Amino acid sequence: CMRLTSALLADELSRIRPSELVLPDELRHVDDEGYSRMGWLRDAEASLKFSVSYRPVWEFRQEFGRQTLEKHFQVRSLEGFGFEGDCISLSAAGVLLLYVQEMQRAALGHILNLRLFEQGHSVLIDDATRRSLELTRTMREGARQGALIEVLDQTVTPMGARKLADWVDHPLVEISEIQARHEAVGEFRQDRAGRERLRDLLDQTYDLQRLTARLATGRCSPKDLISLSRTLAVLPELKKQLERFENRLIASQERELQLCQQAHERILKTLQDDPPLLVNEGGVIRSGFHAQLDEFRDLSTGGKQWIAKYQAEESERTGIPNLKVGFNKVFGYYLEVTAAHQNKIPADYTRKQTLKNQERYITPQLKEYEEKVLRADEQAHALEQQLYEELKQELLPYCGQLQRSAEVMAVVDVLAGLAELAESRDYCRPEMTTEILMDVEQGRHPVLDMILPAGEFVPNEILVGGDHGLIQIITGPNMAGKSTYIRQTALIAFMAQMGSFVPAQRARIGIVDRIFARVGASDELGKGQSTFMVEMTETARILNTATARSLVILDEIGRGTSTYDGLSLAWAVTEHLHDHINCRTLFATHYHELTELTTTLKRASNWNVAVHEQDGQVVFLHRILEGAADKSYGIHVASLAGVPTSVIKRAQEVLQTLEQEHVDAQGKPKVPSRNKKQSPKQLSLFDPVLSHPVIDKLRAVELNRLTPIEALLVLEQLKQELSREA
Ligand code: ADP
Repeated sequence: CMRLTSALLADELSRIRPSELVLPDELRHVDDEGYSRMGWLRDAEASLKFSVSYRPVWEFRQEFGRQTLEKHFQVRSLEGFGFEGDCISLSAAGVLLLYVQEMQRAALGHILNLRLFEQGHSVLIDDATRRSLELTRTMREGARQGALIEVLDQTVTPMGARKLADWVDHPLVEISEIQARHEAVGEFRQDRAGRERLRDLLDQTYDLQRLTARLATGRCSPKDLISLSRTLAVLPELKKQLERFENRLIASQERELQLCQQAHERILKTLQDDPPLLVNEGGVIRSGFHAQLDEFRDLSTGGKQWIAKYQAEESERTGIPNLKVGFNKVFGYYLEVTAAHQNKIPADYTRKQTLKNQERYITPQLKEYEEKVLRADEQAHALEQQLYEELKQELLPYCGQLQRSAEVMAVVDVLAGLAELAESRDYCRPEMTTEILMDVEQGRHPVLDMILPAGEFVPNEILVGGDHGLIQIITGPNMAGKSTYIRQTALIAFMAQMGSFVPAQRARIGIVDRIFARVGASDELGKGQSTFMVEMTETARILNTATARSLVILDEIGRGTSTYDGLSLAWAVTEHLHDHINCRTLFATHYHELTELTTTLKRASNWNVAVHEQDGQVVFLHRILEGAADKSYGIHVASLAGVPTSVIKRAQEVLQTLEQEHVDAQGKPKVPSRNKKQSPKQLSLFDPVLSHPVIDKLRAVELNRLTPIEALLVLEQLKQELSREA
């Protein structure tokens, strides 16, 4: 149980990818046993690179959390947020709120809502699955490019992009919620002009969520407020455009959109159109907004004008043509005279500073006006700051409405983006059902379909569940397209439940509660650690937690160990999935022996990838057909590649001998039945009775991994050994 909890925690961490974790400080000092219990934390810390902060244990008391939250939301009870009775999450929420308050040293007025996240409300996708389906980043490079989210993300605002990431993290399980999204996407798809207008409008907005957060914490610059008002300027038209649509979900978004036009006007009236970044630079408040401010500004301008005039007059009086008035922070205003004119300095000038080629002077009149100018400037700045503060205070009460509008913009952006994708890639709306099946016509892999030149991707039917058997065993040589096919099946189910249309001509999808995807160890190169152990741990997770509603895809499971070991494990895993879990399972394997499973497992069927021979070349058609793959395929390839006929013949003989060892009279592998205890003799598939160095070597050869030339060399070597013996 503990191990399972840790695994779930690790999954959550990898989904959320936190930058920081707040833990009770008792976990800082853990004993030996405690330390091993915290193994998940160490592992997660190493791979996700977050920092950890500790808080006193008492802050984690549920009652304390409840009080903190009630105080923050100014409510007597949290029932309004859906929290009745005990809820352990309240302690976490309370600690977090306190912690953020302390770190930010600012009011958290923009935190207006509390929502309980429960796992059962979305499709459960563990870390290994997230990685092997490449939902948000690719397996090898860890890049966003090439991951599913890059295909899905057609949003035009940062709010939309974040919302989409959230949907990708939490695909829905409630059929009506999924359908509501599909309907909205459908309507946006149909009305292209309306959709484009909406996306144009959204494109003109700024990140309202971030702006609101900055406003709420008092950290917004004048430029932020201008961005806010430009965003608000777009909302009335956005609302009008949304009214065109009849769909329920879109209509509810339209109703939810808060225009906040008073806030908009207030900003327009108060701020200059293009204010500086900081308030204390001055020039933030629009002239005409405040009489006193205008007066200070006039005084300052008047003083500056007098000074300009004074410069001209003094130049004339002294006969110094290049006499100039300058200003610096230390001396204020001064008159600057170059060395060549020092003999013309009048008596009423007082020298203040000597530089290399010039001297600086002041006069009583200059100082008098300087005083006026500086005072007026200072007063203007102070007043501007005060007016700006007032503006912020007046805008504060709008934070809640602004957040709601930001949420609407995010949702509309995602839905319109999904519609854009559906139209440009010709996706279809999936029909959702509670039956346990997947029936897809002309399904495509969303990422490959986008990357490959048009028309190059070969679509495939998917038929799992219903009358077609729940377990598909897909055989075929490497690079034939097995992984692509099983992944596309999982991705289509995933996309549908996230609310997207799917890359297919027609799709009927039974809701899934969990998706598991596993890739055999040797496929996951470059991870270094004991990959087979990892593979088996992950396989154990599936067998322990999958339900009849789950979708399981297994890619070459069991490859990380010796052939017989791996084959036996794969065999037993499939039997267990069939007998005890009975869920939709796609198993891609190059172990041809597994195709025999269908003789004993009623709900399992064989599929293979079509291969075509053309001008002596092998062509992978990437088409999935019912039935088992041709098992002498490796030798077939060798023959096509030009390996001499004598060698091919000999290979066929050897293969036959090997098969006789493992296959019974009907041509089925000799696998012990699950029900009866078998005599040791019948265990022949896993009990190599034939022992000879040449045969052992042959067994170790992985035909699928050899080039034809290498195969030839191996055969030659074996033959030499045999002839040496003879
Ligand atoms: P396998 O799992 O059988 O080794 P993959 O699924 O990895 O094979 O496919 C190998 C390559 O074949 C992919 O990288 C892709 O480029 C191409 N491919 C696979 N399926 C298709 C398809 N349906 N249409 C076009 N190309 C495909």
